[in-house]
Amino acid sequence: FVIPDFRGFCHHIEEIYAKCLTNTDGKAAHYIPQLARANPDHWAVSVCTVDGQRYSTGDVNVPFTLQSCSKPLTYALVSTMYGTDHMHNFVGMEPSGRYFNELCLDYNNKPHNPMINAGAIMTAALLKPDLSAADRFDFVFNMYKRLGGGEYLGFNNAVFLSEKECADRNFALAYFMRENKCFPEGTRLHETLDFYFQLCSLEITAESGALMAATLANGGINPLTGDPVLTVDAVRNTLTLMHSCGMYNYSGQFAFKVGLPSKSGVSGCVLLVVPNTMGICLWSPPLDSNGNSCRAVQFCMELVSRFNFHNFDNL
Ligand code: GLN
Repeated sequence: FVIPDFRGFCHHIEEIYAKCLTNTDGKAAHYIPQLARANPDHWAVSVCTVDGQRYSTGDVNVPFTLQSCSKPLTYALVSTMYGTDHMHNFVGMEPSGRYFNELCLDYNNKPHNPMINAGAIMTAALLKPDLSAADRFDFVFNMYKRLGGGEYLGFNNAVFLSEKECADRNFALAYFMRENKCFPEGTRLHETLDFYFQLCSLEITAESGALMAATLANGGINPLTGDPVLTVDAVRNTLTLMHSCGMYNYSGQFAFKVGLPSKSGVSGCVLLVVPNTMGICLWSPPLDSNGNSCRAVQFCMELVSRFNFHNFDNL
């Protein structure tokens, strides 16, 4: 086993979970009512190792939307299907140093990276552009389902409708990119935005999310089903970008203090990857001023203070 004393490890997870539970900082996202109404007490942690050992605690079976945690997953799919070069003809790989939804492009007139909204809208545009909207959704749903080893995956239509309703900035980003000729020829802008909102509105539980993170930790092969969903190259790219750009404007500090690839979303979820070891999904709605879940960030810090998981711990 990659974690020989798994029981002892779980004991630590339980302790850290309890410690973070007392943290009542932050507020749930309020740009759409569906997220603003979230219960701030929800707190879930789920772990899955690359050799299939699992542990979950808290509200691990309550569904929540993936939001920005869909960004690395869709990026990994597109990279797997079309390769790194094609992907990066249209989107950069540099941290933007700006807000995730800021109206700006890099010096090459591309979105800075796939972890911010502009880059994620671009990623969505690249995925099976010739399919009908319905077939595209079916395709991506099936791929996400494989990432999660067939476990819970849902779609929250109320969140989707809300996203669509409150999307002035995302529309502005898409039009700005079209004005700058960023999209491949033939891109249908409104369909692409709808697709992006659908990706944000996919639902997971902490348990199924941990499996998705574990698939990344395991080089693209789902550790429970053995399904080779992603190529190793695509996973390498994805983890690199999660490492440098996954936690909004806290990404640099997170890389410094925690040193692990991760991605957070406005629903309060964080996908955390310990490469070759395990995937972890954390979820608690209250967010800090950077937009990261307060309890999840605290959990990551505490985890790394107890175990040598930081990228550069083994020097
Ligand atoms: N749906 C949100 C948006 O596009 C997702 C952003 C996020 O999780 N940071 O604005």
